[in-house]
Formats: sequence, C-alpha cells, structure tokens
Amino acid sequence: MKEMYKVRKGTLFLPNLSPMLPVNTTFASFMVIVRSSEALQTLIKKLRRDGKTIGFVPTMGALHPGHLSLVKNAQKQNDIVVVSIFVNPTQFNDPKDFKLYPRTTEQDIYLLEKAGCNTLFLPPTDDIYPVGTAQLPHYELGYLETILEGKYRPGHFQGVCQVVDRLMTLVTPDRLYLGQKDYQQCMVLKKLLSLTGSSAQIEICPTLREADGLAMSSRNVRLDSRERSLATGIFRALTFISSELQPGSLAAIKEGALQLLSESHFRPDYIEIADAGTLQLQAAWDGKKKIVALIAAFMGEVRLIDNMILPLNFANYAN
Ligand code: AMP
Repeated sequence: MKEMYKVRKGTLFLPNLSPMLPVNTTFASFMVIVRSSEALQTLIKKLRRDGKTIGFVPTMGALHPGHLSLVKNAQKQNDIVVVSIFVNPTQFNDPKDFKLYPRTTEQDIYLLEKAGCNTLFLPPTDDIYPVGTAQLPHYELGYLETILEGKYRPGHFQGVCQVVDRLMTLVTPDRLYLGQKDYQQCMVLKKLLSLTGSSAQIEICPTLREADGLAMSSRNVRLDSRERSLATGIFRALTFISSELQPGSLAAIKEGALQLLSESHFRPDYIEIADAGTLQLQAAWDGKKKIVALIAAFMGEVRLIDNMILPLNFANYAN
C-alpha cells in the first residue's frame, strides 16, 4: 500500500491514477492532495459512504486570508472541507491576465494544511476539460451577463460557470462557499445551481480587507508599492458612497466617487449602484431598498473589483 501514497508533514499525496485507498483511512486527520478527477471521485464516494457532509471552496490559488476565511466557515458547517485550486483558462478574457495570474502552489498547500482543509483538489486542465474547451456548454445567464463584469469581461461568466459546473459534478458538495468580494459571481453561481438543479446550498462570506480597507485579492501582489498605497482609493470611493447616500438621484454621489478614484490614479471600468437582489442598475434610491455599490478599476495593469452593500445596516449578503 505504501507506494500508493506518501505522507509529508500531515499531507497525503494521492497519485494521478485511481488510488486504492487504505481501508481505515480517516480523512479528517490530515490533508489529502488529489490530482485527478478519478481519484477525487473515489475519495468522495468513500466520504459519502461514511455519511460525511462536504463543504466546497473553489479557488484559483495564490491564497490569502480571504480564501482561508471561506475554509474556516466551511469547517464549522461540514465534516469535510474540499478546496480546489485551478486557474481556469476559460474565464480569462485577457490572455495576459491569465499568464500573469500569480501561482503559489507550495505556499497554498502549507496554508491550507494549517487552516485545516481536508482535501485539496489540484487538477490538470485536461482533467477539467477532457474534450477540450472548444465546445463547452453555454449557460443562459440572461441580464446578469449583460452588465458590469459581464459587459466589461465578455465570456467571463460562461467560463466561471463551465469550471464550477464541472467541479460541482465531481465534488457534489452539500454547501458551496463563495466570497461577497465577487458579488456578481455569487449571483451568477446561484443561477448556475438553479439551471443545473443542484441542491447544494450557497454560503456567502464577507469580504476580508487589508488594514487600509483594500479588499484582499490574489491580484494585489502584482501592484508595486506606489500602486499598492494608491489602491485603497477603491475602498475610499465605496465609503464615500456609503456616507453620502441619501434618498433621491445617485448621479452626484457616483460623480464624487469617480473623482476620488481618478485622484488615486485609477482608470475605472465602472462605478455603479444596483439593486442588491437583482443587480438592476439604479439611477435613484428610495431610502429603503437594499442596494450595492460596485466598482471595477485598473491600477496600472491590474484590474481590481470591490463592492459594498448599502445602507450599512444591511451589510450582510442575504443568502
Ligand atoms: P478566487 O481564487 O479569486 O477565484 O477566489 C475564490 C473565492 O474566494 C471566491 O469565492 C472569492 O469571492 C473568494 N474571495 C476572494 N477574495 C476574498 C476576500 N477578500 N474575502 C473573502 N472572500 C474572498
């Protein structure tokens, strides 16, 4: 059995081909790294046979405390936490962004082990897309795909759905953990689960921020020190919207926030205020409705996004 796996610092590496799992393995006691869908399915079957509940955290790696907060939440609510790391080529509309996306697998393994992740799925591309990427399914996302990220990153949400659909089929989790940081993505994935008839529950976790308010993001490491100090401008623009928010037209507030962004040398793609439930863009606020301010902007070559649910006493994303 020894040649089937090796244990290092509490991590069990499974080989590429379907493993013969040791009969009495208790998976909760160390982290298993699985590199093929076949091995993952063998493992999931065993967990299901043992009656375990599964929480799933899909990521693209280059992990930071925001990702790890999702793992912690998943741990609280499930017997087993599965994390995937896959930099999904089909969701990058800009090939340069895909090429430059940070990849820090060794450090990610270390962080996940420490955070108490049970299973790390690290698939190669041809395991996620066994027949290539030319003829992947198309998902009817409707209005959600025509606005904001959908408008500025054509094809992005189709790519997100393609990878998450495949991962959900393999992992079959009870709960799917997502970050509010990617607000529109949360809504798209809710739609995906309803389109595919998945019974998994979506759990949306709050955005973790750096001390100066910048939302944690894998892309932040690409900012140089000048850009990094300016980058807090997105958060300042969001807090400006929050503090200036009043019933009536939103035009002047958006203009003021835009001004703050350009003072920080951001090049905005959009700054919008939308209905928090439907993402319908709002020109005015009635003083009651739960809304969300969303910003996407370039700092140098790096595109950052952030959002804030308003008014602040509504600050939690309604699951
Ligand atoms: P990514 O690796 O960027 O695809 O992100 C994987 C998951 O982590 C997504 O559900 C993100 O919304 C979530 N996430 C990313 N950044 C943060 C953050 N700062 N706080 C909380 N969750 C986050």
